[in-house]
Amino acid sequence: MRERIGRMRNILEERGIDGFLVTHLPNVRYLTGFSGTNGLCLIGRETSYFLTDFRYHEQSHQEVKGLRITVAKNSLFEQLEKRKLFRGMRRVGIEGNYLPYADYRKLKKTFPRLRFIPLADVIEGISAVKDEEEIGLIKKAAQISDKVFDEVVKSIKPGVRELEVSAEISYLHKTYGAERDAFETIVASGPRGALPHGIACAKKIRRGEFVTLDFGCVYRGYCCDITRSVSIGEPTRKLREVYRIVSEAQTRAIEAVKSGMIAKDLDAVARRYIARNGFGKFFGHSLGHGIGLQIHESPRISSQSSYRLRDGNVITIEPGIYLPGIGGVRIEDDVLVMNGKSVALNKAPKELIVL
Ligand code: ZN
Ligand code: ZN
Repeated sequence: MRERIGRMRNILEERGIDGFLVTHLPNVRYLTGFSGTNGLCLIGRETSYFLTDFRYHEQSHQEVKGLRITVAKNSLFEQLEKRKLFRGMRRVGIEGNYLPYADYRKLKKTFPRLRFIPLADVIEGISAVKDEEEIGLIKKAAQISDKVFDEVVKSIKPGVRELEVSAEISYLHKTYGAERDAFETIVASGPRGALPHGIACAKKIRRGEFVTLDFGCVYRGYCCDITRSVSIGEPTRKLREVYRIVSEAQTRAIEAVKSGMIAKDLDAVARRYIARNGFGKFFGHSLGHGIGLQIHESPRISSQSSYRLRDGNVITIEPGIYLPGIGGVRIEDDVLVMNGKSVALNKAPKELIVL
């Protein structure tokens, strides 16, 4: 944490600002270690403060190191004023992508002499490169979800509802040591497989359908994210072919990962392969995203992203093909960029499973 705050201080210097008010909770956690639901931090050039409320008195003293902790009776913003924590500051950075407009107005009204400067992607730029400890936690999360996949496929059969499968996934995640699901589990069977974000519903799974499972867990704050599509009974020739194309596109993209590569060039590896095989217009989302304390974070792996990949990035690679009225296939793994190339963190099988 100390090192992270040190890097923030360098950024203050570079940008000519006196302080940075961090309010987005995953970023607060990244900088302070605080895992509760109400807290903010103010990074100053010399002193940094962490503010929370009474409920987190105990927890913040256990978790937060290297910042002065203040426990507020009322609102955290009021406490900033009461304690005059902005003393000596004129230009203060805020998280332009996250601070609610109402809070921004409140800050401006309460501190009329300060200039609040919206900065985007400052902490995101630092946190996109994971350290060893973070990588270890993501690996552990990925191992748990791999194990859950091996187990949950046994319970997928005709007549079972999508919601039962997602409940089983949540149960197994916690049984195997995760804190919780990383996001609402997607179980999309049959024609629902054409919905890239088909959250599990009461639909029963039927013979002859493909089922796409997209899920992940959180282990000590860190997320993983995995997708597999399985077939219930023998698939049609078309779906088998679609599966082969998605799988090949994903393998090619994973193998193409190298540090120094621009993210949109990586996206293009999978996209071009799918397009060459005639399904270009059925792959409408980006290839992947960073994972960490948040399930979607920097860097984005899309056809627009000019991010240059580097060692320490942990990203997903998740091409898919979605055929309206028929179904879909997506295969997703978490991939670490290390020593210039990719290391796949998921070990769940990728050859088509026919249940
Ligand atoms: Zn996913
Ligand atoms: Zn994902």
